[in-house]
This record gives sequence, structure tokens and C-alpha cells, in this order.
Amino acid sequence: MLKPLATIGILGGGQLGRMLALSAARLGLRCHIYSPEANSCAFDVAQARTVARYDDAAALARFAASVDVVTYEFENVPARTAALLATQCQVFPDPAVLAKTQDRLIEKQFVGSLGIATAPFAPVGSAEEATVAIGRIGRPAVMKTRRLGYDGKGQVKIGPDGDAVAAWTELGKAECILEGFVAFEREVSVIAARARDGTVACFEVTENEHRNHILHRSSVPAKVSPALAAAALDIAGRIATAFDYVGVLAVEMFVRRENGAETLLVNEIAPRVHNSGHWTIDGATVSQFEQHIRAVAGWPLGVPRRHGSRVEMVNLIGAEAADLGDVLTEPGACLHLYGKANPRPGRKMGHITRIFSD
Ligand code: AMP
Repeated sequence: MLKPLATIGILGGGQLGRMLALSAARLGLRCHIYSPEANSCAFDVAQARTVARYDDAAALARFAASVDVVTYEFENVPARTAALLATQCQVFPDPAVLAKTQDRLIEKQFVGSLGIATAPFAPVGSAEEATVAIGRIGRPAVMKTRRLGYDGKGQVKIGPDGDAVAAWTELGKAECILEGFVAFEREVSVIAARARDGTVACFEVTENEHRNHILHRSSVPAKVSPALAAAALDIAGRIATAFDYVGVLAVEMFVRRENGAETLLVNEIAPRVHNSGHWTIDGATVSQFEQHIRAVAGWPLGVPRRHGSRVEMVNLIGAEAADLGDVLTEPGACLHLYGKANPRPGRKMGHITRIFSD
């Protein structure tokens, strides 16, 4: 168990690292951020920084020697980087998890092996496989690159008359999977924390609304039945336990209605804190960031309680953060800006949390 003033090393310097470092500071712990980008927004709030590439073995060795434990805020840290660090210091979650979640095909097969449902899927590595896959999965469908996709990047929808080979070609003939398109009723996620001793604590099911493939709004409580909520928490807990996970992970799911009954399909696992859990900073007594810090520090998990009867988080994307309008003076609005200089379209610049007491 780390003592106050111990240092947590974080690979990745984006807003997730920034919010992890802020939580660590509140608990009397320090953070050392490692990122290849000199203008990483997490640097602003951390005790120490390293600007170096993920394959810089000398920089990684110095980083490992300067921290008490390493974690990540970014799931596309090269698996080799995390594995190399693990020979020099403790790394949580285990780098083996990255290998399972960086590839959509391996991830979906893993979820299936636990007896948990996903949309139907098939691997596509050639034009022939694209044709076979669409014959099996049917239309509509979504072609997705197996690696490095996020916020809808690396995805092409195939409509009722769409061409699977054209979709695969549009994705640069990369290794892909074809997924059946899910006519979902809503999208939800579960943020699960797992401690070093195996204790699991999930936040309540969060309902998510996307715009242009980017998360727009998250709200709790989700409009799902108690039975479905229990099933969603059970799925997230089983995934965390199957990974022997230490830290926070997010499981994104689709809720579908079949013959009047709600069912769940797992869409994606994020082995890190997640945008749909940002509401927990202001909306709960313990945030997802604090849970992650506690877990990797070997502390017991907190027991979060939600504030208010309903909590809503809205992202500020691109130029939305430049014109805050009345938000600065809106009673009760909790504003977070990530300290990013360049508001590119689609870039997450901040968020606002609102707590309602009906
Ligand atoms: P992903 O990158 O897989 O999380 O996908 C981003 C978003 O695209 C999801 O949150 C959904 O809104 C949508 N999406 C992805 N896959 C599917 C699917 N198989 N069926 C319907 N919508 C999907």
C-alpha cells in the first residue's frame, strides 16, 4: 500500500491523466506523467513530467526508477512499452490486458468466451473475407478497424444497399472486423473499479448519448429496469475479474428491446477511466479517478454515493469551450476545462456537470 507522498507514474498526458493527477493530489499522492507530446495537458497539474517516445528505453528506465507504481490513462500505449516497464516496476493494470483490448477482434472473442453477448462479428482481412462476412452478418453492418479506432474513427457504416468491399477499401484495407448494426434503444456504460485484493466496486449504470460518434451527454440514473442494471454491473464485474484487473475499466453496452424485453450487448471495453464516468467527480462522493488511484496505490476502494437524484455530464467539444455563454454563472454548474490550447473540431476540451434534486 503506497503511503502519502508516494509517486504514481502515468503513461499518457491527456485529460484523463490530468484528472487522475488531480485526484491523486487530493489523496496526498504525487504523479509523474510520461507523454511523447510536449504540450500534454496533464503536465500542468503533475509533480513531474517526462517528454519522450514510448519506445525510448532509457527514458522509460529513468521513469520506472522515479515512481512507486505505473498506470496508464490511454489504452493505445504500445503493449511492449508497458511490458518493458513491468520488468522494472509494478504496473497496474497488468499489461496483458492491453493486448486483449487493443484489438477489437481479440476483445470480442474474449467477451464471448465469458458467455457475454456482443453484436455478431466476423474478421475481415481481404476482399473475399469482406464478401463472406457480409453474407453471414447481413446488412446494415459496421466495418471497423481492429486497432486504433476511437470516437467513430476507423468505422464505416454499411447501409441496406452498402458494399462491404468498398467499406473495407475506405478503411485502407486494414485488418478489420465486420459487426452487425445494432438497432439499440439506448447506450449505457458501467465503470468498474477492482482493487488489488480482488474487491470490485461498480458505479451505477450510466446512460450515454453520442453526437457525430462522440460522447455528448452522460446521465444517471440510466432509464433501465433494475434487473437490466444488475445484469450490466454483473457483466462489468465479470470482465474485471477475468482480467485479474487492478484499476478502473469501462464497459460500453447497447440496450436492445426484443419482444418487449431489454437485453444487453457489450460493444467495447476501455481499460482505463472513461469519459462516461466524468460525472462522478462532482456527482459522487468518490470519483472514478479516485477509485483508479486507490486501486493502483493498493488502497481499499471507496464506497461512492451519488449526490442528488439525477446527475448529467455534457462534453464541451471543439469550439464549444470557447463560448461558454451563461455556464460560468449558472447556479450549480460544475465546469471543467482541460487546459488544451488548440480547439480542433471533435476535440474534447472540457465538460460541465449538473446535479439535480427533483
Ligand atoms: P465504438 O468506437 O465501437 O465505441 O463506436 C462508437 C459509436 O458508434 C457507438 O457508441 C455507437 O453509437 C456506434 N456504433 C458502434 N458500433 C455499432 C453497432 N454495431 N451498431 C450500432 N451502432 C454502433
